[in-house]
Amino acid sequence: MDKSRIIIAIDGYSSTGKSSFAKLIARKLGYIYVDTGAIYRAVTYFAYNCGFIDRKCRIKEEWLEKAISNIQITFRQTGPDGRSETYLNGTNVEKQIRTMEVSNKVSHISALPFVRRYVDDILRKLGESRGVVMDGRDIGTAVFPDAELKLFMTASAQVRAERRLKELHEKGGNESFEEVLKNIEERDHIDTTRKTAPLTQAPDAILLDNSNMTIDEQLVWLDGIMKERFSFGLFGEEIA
Ligand code: C5P
Repeated sequence: MDKSRIIIAIDGYSSTGKSSFAKLIARKLGYIYVDTGAIYRAVTYFAYNCGFIDRKCRIKEEWLEKAISNIQITFRQTGPDGRSETYLNGTNVEKQIRTMEVSNKVSHISALPFVRRYVDDILRKLGESRGVVMDGRDIGTAVFPDAELKLFMTASAQVRAERRLKELHEKGGNESFEEVLKNIEERDHIDTTRKTAPLTQAPDAILLDNSNMTIDEQLVWLDGIMKERFSFGLFGEEIA
């Protein structure tokens, strides 16, 4: 195995900046980046469009289970910066899967064991040849328990809601702070208490609380850890 191609699993609470961090790490290492939450969001969007989940989050589980094998979720790179967009059965759904409508339902859909099995299969295939950074809720605990590097990200709910609100408003949204905070707290609760693969820190994951850290500070922190553990870091120079 090529020792410079490892699996980096980044788990943690909603809106801790996992995907921005993971994207940058992947770019620096020339790895693939996989946004596993986007896959759960795409399944949720599909379920909502088909009428398998309603506004009150009541789910027609049997119907969704029958239909799920016909869902095709793919990613297409949008530029050299590692950004990619999500496609559902060939249609770009990147915008639709980030709406509050989907955010309010996704944790209910992702708690279903058959949905998790479906997504896990996709993820394990994507990680087969290593050299991948994946962010989600159960990557280091359930999907790749053998990942060489595991991080667990957290930050105060207040800070996370502020960051998420800024992101949504930059995309033209008009959500309120209270609405965003409520969604974050609700998802934290469902994600940590569900029966199948709940969000929890793997015993061998390194905790990163980035409440008061910039993204550059986080990269420098990780570079130090990687150089200690592996023969390479994020910024190029090899250690003899
Ligand atoms: O990462 P993001 O916030 O987009 O994830 C949306 C939701 O998808 C999470 O709140 C969680 O319910 C679910 N999810 C999960 N397991 C993952 C990634 C996301 O259950 N590995």
